[in-house]
Amino acid sequence: MVEDSMKGDFTTDEIKFIVDELGEIFERRTFEDSTPYEVLVRTILSQRTRDENTDRATEALFNVYPDMESVADAPVEEIARLVKPAGFYNVKAGRIKEVSNILLDEYDGVVPDSIDELVKLPGVGRKTANCVIVFGFQEDAIPVDVHVHRISNRLGLVNTKEPEDTEDVLREIVPRSYWLPINDLMVQFGQNICKPINPQHMECPFTDMCKFYRECDE
Ligand code: SF4
Repeated sequence: MVEDSMKGDFTTDEIKFIVDELGEIFERRTFEDSTPYEVLVRTILSQRTRDENTDRATEALFNVYPDMESVADAPVEEIARLVKPAGFYNVKAGRIKEVSNILLDEYDGVVPDSIDELVKLPGVGRKTANCVIVFGFQEDAIPVDVHVHRISNRLGLVNTKEPEDTEDVLREIVPRSYWLPINDLMVQFGQNICKPINPQHMECPFTDMCKFYRECDE
C-alpha cells in the first residue's frame, strides 16, 4: 500500500481516458519482434540518449554480433565502436558484455522474466527491468522513466519525488489491463507534447484535468 498523500484524486475512468486518449494520438511501439535479450541490450543502450541514437547503436551491434554468445565473445573495444552513437559507449559496451556473460554462465543463456532477478544484473535498475518485462516478454509492468515520472506528477496522478514511488502508485491506481501501453505512450507524449521544457499545453487534451496546467493558470 502506498501513502494516500502520494496519490492524486483521479477516478479509474479518468485514468483509462488518459491512456485511451494517448493511444488515439500516438501509435504504440511494442517491440514484439525483439527477443528479451535484444530488448535488454537496447534498454541499456537507451540510457541518457535519444531514441534515434539508440536505434542506430542497437542495429550496428546486432548486425555484427547477432546474439548473446557472439556479444559475450566480442572484444569490448569492438562493441564500444559499434555502439558509439548511443554515447557513454565504453561504459555501455562493458556492461553489455558483462551482462551477456553472466546470462550465459548463470542463467543458461535465458533472460529471466522477473524484476527481482533482472535487477541483480550489473547496471540494470528497475526501469530497465520493467522495460524488459513489458517489451521483451509483453507482460504487465510499468517502467517509470523521466517522462512517465514527470507527466504523472504534472497531471496529478501521483505526488512523488522518486520514480520508484511513482511506479508503486501507478501500479495501485492504474487498472492492470492498462499497464502495458503506459510507458511507450507517455514517452511519446513527453517527447512531443508534455516536454520537460515548454510543454505544449495548447496541443494537449488533458488541460481540464491537469494539476500543472491549473497551477500555471492561477
Ligand atoms: S496540460 Fe500541459 S503540463 Fe498538463 S499534461 Fe498537458 S502538456 Fe503536460
